[in-house]
Amino acid sequence: MPKTPNGYAVIAPDDVDDLTTVLKVGGAAFRVATAHAASFKALLTFLDSVEPFAEPGWDGGYAHRLQRGSSTKWSEHAAGTAIDTNASQHPMGGARYAGWTADQVRVIRWYLKTSAHGRRMEWGADFTRPDPMHFQLKAAA
Ligand SMILES: [Zn+2]
Repeated sequence: MPKTPNGYAVIAPDDVDDLTTVLKVGGAAFRVATAHAASFKALLTFLDSVEPFAEPGWDGGYAHRLQRGSSTKWSEHAAGTAIDTNASQHPMGGARYAGWTADQVRVIRWYLKTSAHGRRMEWGADFTRPDPMHFQLKAAA
């Protein structure tokens, strides 16, 4: 079974038992790996309080695809271990914190550092090619 760079098993699109919809807010649905649903529910509830989800119909969670710009590496989204929030406001490949205010960045950093679920996550804003909409599970220990 193929794995993502962080070591999580890629989930086939018809493997519905391994996928769970953890949150539907304002029409935004997020499918994630059932095994990690609690951590993503906590993260998404937190993010919705920082900036409400504003893209009806958007599923910013599971996607069976490779990383953008790669022909070999699986996206963490393919394991259901990544989510994107309000993608149009926080585009990939631009400014590190595109669309986030300094206050929002502070509170997100605080969450990632101090919350038990948050400490399991890494933020795309820290990638070489910044992806500020994106949060994913850290590599399995
Ligand atoms: Zn993403």
